[in-house]
Formats: sequence, structure tokens, C-alpha cells
Amino acid sequence: MHETMVAQSVLAAISAEAKKQNAKPVAAKISCGVFNTVNSDALLFAFEAISKGTVCEGLKLDIEQKSIQARCKKCDCTFAFELHEPSCPKCRGDDFELLPDEPLMLEEIEFDDG
Ligand SMILES: [Zn+2]
Repeated sequence: MHETMVAQSVLAAISAEAKKQNAKPVAAKISCGVFNTVNSDALLFAFEAISKGTVCEGLKLDIEQKSIQARCKKCDCTFAFELHEPSCPKCRGDDFELLPDEPLMLEEIEFDDG
């Protein structure tokens, strides 16, 4: 039930911002790393369920998955790791380490200003 907890924290963050702006949030965008264990569909489902009756009811939630970063051990350059091309774009080396995945982040909230 990891997604329910994530949905709750997202809902809390959006609600707090809505209170500050005194407006109804209509859409929000969150991002997380591609290897994050959060399942997008489960998260959307959980969010819809717990947002019923709150200021966030009917809000359109957008989840953007960000690519993971890797650092080349040869030339020390940092690049976006691609599963289909796992090598350094600079020196073509394949000796690299993956950097920690991005945590879940609230990117932006859209408010109904009408
Ligand atoms: Zn390199």
C-alpha cells in the first residue's frame, strides 16, 4: 500500500498550497525517477479515491518519469542513462555508476483562477 501513502502526501502538499492561494487546484504535476517503485496507475487510483470530498476532488494528476542519471568512471561525465544504450555519450565507455534515483517531487500545481 505504498501508493496510498504517496498519494496522501501528494494530496496534503496540494491541499496546503491550495489553502495558501485560496484557490481550487485543477491539475498538478509530479515527477519521479524511472526506477522509483511507485506504480503510476496505482498512485492515480489511490489519489482519486482519497481526494473525494476534498479540495482536490477531480484534480488531474500528471506523473512524469525522469530518466536516471549515471556517471562515467573514465571521463567523469554525468549523463542520462538509457536502457537501450548503456554507455557514456562522451567516451563510449561502459564503466559507469548509476546515481541515486530521484525522489518523488511535486513539480507544479494549476489553480482555477476563474
Ligand atoms: Zn565517459
